[in-house]
Amino acid sequence: MKKNWIEKDLSSFTVQPNLINYSHERDNFDWKAVSQQFDGLSSGGLNIAHEAIDRHANGPLATKTALLWLGRNGERASFTFADMKKQTAKFANVLTTLGLLKGERVFTLSTRLPELYIAAIGILKNRNVLCPLFSQFGPEPILQRMQRGDASALLTTKTLYEKKIRPILDQLPELRFILLIDADKDESEQVRSLKKLMDTASDTYEILPTDPEDMSILHFTSGTTGMPKGVVHVHKAAYTHWTSGKYVLDLHPNDIYWCTADPGWVTGTSYGIITPWLHGVTNVVDEAEFDAIRWYSTLQNEKVSVWYTAPTAIRRLMRMDSNPTKEYDLSHLRLIQSVGEPLNPEAVVWGVEKLKMPIHDNWWQTETGGIMIANFLSQQIRPGSMGRPLPGIEAGIVVQNDDGTITEITQAHKEGELALRPGWPSMFRAYLHNDEKYDKSFAGGWYLSGDLAYKDEDGFFWFVGRADDIIKTSGHMVGPFEVESTLMEHPSVAEAGVIGKPDEMIGQIVKAFVSLKSGFEPTEELRRELIGFGRKKLGAAVAPKEIEFAQNLPKTRSGKIMRRLLKAREMGLPEGDISTLED
Ligand code: ATP
Ligand code: MG
Repeated sequence: MKKNWIEKDLSSFTVQPNLINYSHERDNFDWKAVSQQFDGLSSGGLNIAHEAIDRHANGPLATKTALLWLGRNGERASFTFADMKKQTAKFANVLTTLGLLKGERVFTLSTRLPELYIAAIGILKNRNVLCPLFSQFGPEPILQRMQRGDASALLTTKTLYEKKIRPILDQLPELRFILLIDADKDESEQVRSLKKLMDTASDTYEILPTDPEDMSILHFTSGTTGMPKGVVHVHKAAYTHWTSGKYVLDLHPNDIYWCTADPGWVTGTSYGIITPWLHGVTNVVDEAEFDAIRWYSTLQNEKVSVWYTAPTAIRRLMRMDSNPTKEYDLSHLRLIQSVGEPLNPEAVVWGVEKLKMPIHDNWWQTETGGIMIANFLSQQIRPGSMGRPLPGIEAGIVVQNDDGTITEITQAHKEGELALRPGWPSMFRAYLHNDEKYDKSFAGGWYLSGDLAYKDEDGFFWFVGRADDIIKTSGHMVGPFEVESTLMEHPSVAEAGVIGKPDEMIGQIVKAFVSLKSGFEPTEELRRELIGFGRKKLGAAVAPKEIEFAQNLPKTRSGKIMRRLLKAREMGLPEGDISTLED
């Protein structure tokens, strides 16, 4: 793995945030100072909707664009903070009129339409719980989540309703209302036209007292390792969002910000809705799915300055042999951040070569609610490392002993479970209907993430793999990430997924599934070459002994390689929950 520093010119940072020394000084971080960045409600407490929208609409940012929406077919719409205040007030009034009470769950199932963003904030305004679903789910995963999440209402579109909700409606007796974004008239008492309701709703709304600990969002995890878990978040999470927006996304008033994640996943709400607006920044939303030309054009045409995306998209851009900075004017772009999966060092280096800036990796989970470990714009980075903990976050590497106790590993380069000291504002407050699992995630004063990592002597964290994906071969522990990243250094490899295949002699054999870049053929000769390449780079103990070519690797709809599925298929075992598997 490449471990060289990428040298960035940091001379423009007149004020160097004191990022080097804070990492283990959680107690010195002043969350109180962060809380002073927030208005609070005049009626009492803290509500995300007020902090993200209303307070800006009440001040000098009223006429600034909050949401810049790009439709699938070239349509455009923009909403100022003042517009958003009114629209979200209308939506909150609709919910009040329908009798939805504080704490009731409102699900959303929509493509990235402006109404989805209006609804998300409106739901929080009315103190309901926002429960986002990914619009490409089929009826079964939708049913599962709505039943488990006690859905009282659902926002969706006519087409999605017909295709995905009608077939399961009789199994959702508690669902009182379905609001159809694009229907002109009501279908029944239960199935209503949102337009009609919005037309008659008042555009002023006073948010009622909201406790910072009140539930705000219920998110389901990606299902990469098993059954998706319902993760409960609270309004106070906004403190983490604000802090990460400042330190990691480096948001400034004039930024044009684009997060490519869908609000069906936590990145799409925490960073595709809440964070940019907490900072009063213009948020670009693209309704369309990934398309390299469209994406580069959006970066150029909208003058995007801060871009938050994911390794899966970056790998797709890398696959194309293009020269973006020659073909597009990307001169406004100043920061690229990435999350969701390990970012292969090769991708960071590709960024430097092709986009003229490194891609900054950061780590977090649905459970952490916000970014916990990151590469900062104001610091040098090491390709392949997730970076360092945020201000106010203490991260450590631990092992759980057989008796359940925890020992922290302070030694550099020694692998263990990545853990966080509980108590950060966006920490999840529960696994829905599963207290036992929640309690088990905490031990010895740490939250245990289920990911394996190590720390180097400079306090940078390096991802090794998910605990479930670790391969035990001839007495060695092998993390799939390192093997995958090495294979990606070969010019033919676009993507790799590595698993442990059970073997009587050595425990597990390291096996790699490899998809090739265009122009390369999956020949026996190339297979042998890749095996040799792995051996040379990684040594015989760690290198893959078997390589299988695959056109595409199975991924979650949020773009993560599903190694558990590669393994189940390899072993002829049941595939388990595949509700989040990409088509
Ligand atoms: P499930 O918990 O249902 O198996 P999931 O863990 O993929 O799904 P998310 O909460 O969306 O659901 O993803 C968080 C996980 O993604 C992390 O625990 C980690 O394994 C992986 N991840 C996220 N960012 C990074 C990163 N920068 N480097 C390595 N892994 C990452
Ligand atoms: Mg997880």
